[in-house]
Amino acid sequence: MASRCSSGATGPAALEKLPGSSIRVLRTVESVRRWRRPLLLDQRSVALVPTMGALHEGHLSLIRAAARANHHVVVSLYVNPAQFGVREDLASYPVTWDADAAALVRLDRELADDGHNLGRISAVFAPSTSEMYPAGFPGQEVDSKGSFVTITPLAELLEGRSRPTFFRGVATVCMKLFNIVQPERVYFGQKDVQQTVVIKTLVRDFMLPIEVVVEPTARAEDGLALSSRNVYLGTRRRRVATVLYRALQAAEAAYARGATDRAEILGAAHGLLNQVLAEQAALSAEERVLFGVDYVSLADPDTMEELPAVDPAKGGILSGAVKMLPVEAAQPGEDLGHSGGPAVRLIDNIILPPSRS
Ligand code: AMP
Repeated sequence: MASRCSSGATGPAALEKLPGSSIRVLRTVESVRRWRRPLLLDQRSVALVPTMGALHEGHLSLIRAAARANHHVVVSLYVNPAQFGVREDLASYPVTWDADAAALVRLDRELADDGHNLGRISAVFAPSTSEMYPAGFPGQEVDSKGSFVTITPLAELLEGRSRPTFFRGVATVCMKLFNIVQPERVYFGQKDVQQTVVIKTLVRDFMLPIEVVVEPTARAEDGLALSSRNVYLGTRRRRVATVLYRALQAAEAAYARGATDRAEILGAAHGLLNQVLAEQAALSAEERVLFGVDYVSLADPDTMEELPAVDPAKGGILSGAVKMLPVEAAQPGEDLGHSGGPAVRLIDNIILPPSRS
């Protein structure tokens, strides 16, 4: 493996930087505070882009937006154990430090060459779990004890129903990151729409002096929302993985045609999901891709509570989750995906805007 860092000098005062760049690598709370303090006095704005690494174009679009509007961008790279359930994929979650470092250095050069940015990537915050959780490895059970931030009932709905400790982990780690970095602005992707509502609620309810900026979902050419977990899919399941987005688009089209009733809007999504499932079920085990629908939702944009009908003056959020099941019978030499192609839960959403009239 390539070296994790380079430094211009040796000795205790040497600064760790990403190779070939001026991007600092900060690993401790104290080092972030030391870096941050003079920027506050100089009134330089700082943005934070929290990530779990395995960077893709979706993450990079957040960083670009942050650099346009802020003097300094901090990207955190930390796979947060508290947001994984005990039976989830913490152990196999893709960790790609060298590729992430290279992507950040490339992006930073792009930002430097483009005259429209206020800032660049100043630092990467890549802490250890003992640094982030001084009391010890965080509990992953619903009844685990510890210092947690809970945002209910929001965190119990939709994603929270399938992943009961997920938003507790997200809210807790974000509160820590916000307290460490003390950013003026934080950048999140619409891809994880419920997460954006959790973070906005956290900021509002705990009076954090932070602006939450939400950037659009970055998609592959065929519409699949980019996700670090897509590497688990393999070729066969990747081809079918657009099914959720297509189902949400069908529901969106129903709303665009004037439907406001929940049954009519969500019926369009379920119709597409059922049709694709029937087509796949008719194929042989060596060819087909089966999936289970976890939920398809039409919810209030502020609370994520289910809506019986969309109020066109307010709009709504269409969202869904499907579980792509492992292939039943592999073909010789077939690429099944990272870690042998386990079940992959895909999420996506489309915002139904308030109508203009
Ligand atoms: P993650 O590394 O998955 O925790 O994601 C870090 C941030 O990137 C979160 O704010 C995500 O919502 C955002 N993100 C992930 N995928 C996308 C995407 N396809 N488009 C835009 N933002 C994304």
